[in-house]
Amino acid sequence: MAFESIDPSTGETFFHMEPWGEAEREAALAAVAAATPGWAATPVAERAEAVRAIAGELRRRADELATLITREVGKLHREARGEIEKCAWVCEYYADHGPGFLADEPIETDAGKSLVAYQPLGTVLAVMPWNFPFWQVFRFAAPALVAGNTGVLKHASNVPQSALAIEEVIRDAGLPADTFRTLMIRAADVDAVIDDPRIAAVTLTGSEPAGRAVASRAAANIKKAVLELGGSDPFIVLDDADVEQAVEAAATSRFLNNGQSCIAAKRFILTPGIADDFVERFRRRVEAMTVGDPAAETTQLGPMARTDLRDELHTQVADSVRAGAQVVTGCTLPDSPGAFYPPSILDHVAEGQRAFEEELFGPVAIVLRADDAEHAVNLANGSRFGLGGAVWTADSQRGEAIARRLECGAAFVNGIVKSDPRLPFGGVKASGFGRELSRHGIQEFVNAKTVWVK
Ligand code: NAP
Repeated sequence: MAFESIDPSTGETFFHMEPWGEAEREAALAAVAAATPGWAATPVAERAEAVRAIAGELRRRADELATLITREVGKLHREARGEIEKCAWVCEYYADHGPGFLADEPIETDAGKSLVAYQPLGTVLAVMPWNFPFWQVFRFAAPALVAGNTGVLKHASNVPQSALAIEEVIRDAGLPADTFRTLMIRAADVDAVIDDPRIAAVTLTGSEPAGRAVASRAAANIKKAVLELGGSDPFIVLDDADVEQAVEAAATSRFLNNGQSCIAAKRFILTPGIADDFVERFRRRVEAMTVGDPAAETTQLGPMARTDLRDELHTQVADSVRAGAQVVTGCTLPDSPGAFYPPSILDHVAEGQRAFEEELFGPVAIVLRADDAEHAVNLANGSRFGLGGAVWTADSQRGEAIARRLECGAAFVNGIVKSDPRLPFGGVKASGFGRELSRHGIQEFVNAKTVWVK
């Protein structure tokens, strides 16, 4: 299948490219392998400054890159600009802190000198999704490059121009040729790249099935893997919470990126004292959203990225309704061009329904009614996923106690789950393993080597 950019607002195809064959893949892998020792030997301070220059290049081209994101995946233009700015931030963060995170760690032993040295692994393959087509790549690339690794990117098939632009930005920022290359290959060719001895490790951000396939191939090759997979984050609202504030946060979290964020709040778990009030205010808030052209500043919800994804979401919703969930608003398939789906709420979702058991990767909020706070925690932890979670309460100590009990990689009290270069990011359970961002992220793709000198 060819790579195509299809504007999800209109269905118009505006870019087409045949995937690479074996010869082009081989040439790119050989070029990166040739560049790898030189980059690893470059002093870390120089590598950090090179990555800082990427931030400048991203900012210089911010508007053009944001427009490309909006056209390829339908992201609101202002959110796309925010995404590019966040990529610049993560580059600067690792330029500032990477050398410190990678500094030798002396440890006292019976040796004259003993220490941990953090050394690069080599070339890391990144398999990435379309939903944050720049951010997902840069949150991997910035620490990996500062750590002295080189990178090859297999991006999602529906964002070929973003994939090519990322390579261009890194090259134009002045990094040595072939330290980071985009491979225009199909998912079916990923196994061959993982098997290739010139690849040291792999990171994947995407769905559970893709994670399963890539991680098992990496394991068969005894290569390190990091997996950032799907989520069905709980958003618990307790009786004592500020409901208006929680509703506002719920709308922001659930509908960001047109409902297609891994860490969006997806399961709204409500205790009896506020449940009806929350649902009613949430309904009003959601029904007031402006849906339409993602390039327009006034739009609050654009299309989903692809019609096949939209249709699959609707099937999940319809199956859940047949199993007992109740439609509060939305949940109908529009009869208009593009991949639009209305902002939707499903109430009385229960364990066993698809909306509970699976990730809903689109603008549909699901409500679960809990008997009390204890039941809310049990429902939150009843998911196969474990990416993020949030709890809303007037009692922050109680909130923290609940946050500590949530089975996830990031738990927030009175705030929406968000990624931040300073904090580790990643999941447990079917949401994956390993961490990105912060000190933890840069230490994933290094050899923590013991050096012992008598
Ligand atoms: P996807 O279908 O899994 O695709 C992700 C990437 O994996 C794409 O490059 C895809 O290539 C590739 N791929 C798919 N199947 C593969 C296989 N069997 N072997 C090797 N590569 C394979 O996911 P998506 O629809 O792009 O993204 C949505 C998912 O990503 C959601 O589940 C979301 O929650 C998750 N996500 C997680 C995070 C996180 O940080 N935890 C962040 C963002 C998104 P093709 O496009 O060519 O198929």
